[in-house]
Amino acid sequence: MAWKDQMLYSVLRHKCPRCHEGNLFIHKNPYSGWKVFEMPKECEHCGQRFQLEPGFYYGAMYVSYGLGVAWFVAMLVAFTVLYPDFSIHVFIITTVVSMVALTPVLFRLARAIWIHLFVKYEKDWQQNVDPKA
Ligand SMILES: [Zn+2]
Repeated sequence: MAWKDQMLYSVLRHKCPRCHEGNLFIHKNPYSGWKVFEMPKECEHCGQRFQLEPGFYYGAMYVSYGLGVAWFVAMLVAFTVLYPDFSIHVFIITTVVSMVALTPVLFRLARAIWIHLFVKYEKDWQQNVDPKA
């Protein structure tokens, strides 16, 4: 199986879950201000809708919470291994600042993971297109 066919590729590159070609977000830069939230209504490649139902991405907040906890644990392990006598104040400040800095990245990653849970990859999606639709 090619790397491009893997779900991990599509999630990390923020690609359409159905075709792995179209972009999930209009702007590639996650630090482009409020534009970070802008998503196309559908995939420019295969036509897959990205808003599956009203409020679909509220569920991505659960994923985002999980990513935040994972980041906290990763920071704790890194501090424990690299600086065994670390100060709790330095740890908290470093973790909070890095978490705030990573918010746009985690936001997009959470949305990408969330939609990939509901839309499966169709390698030959062109053959499944209904010509009457
Ligand atoms: Zn697509």
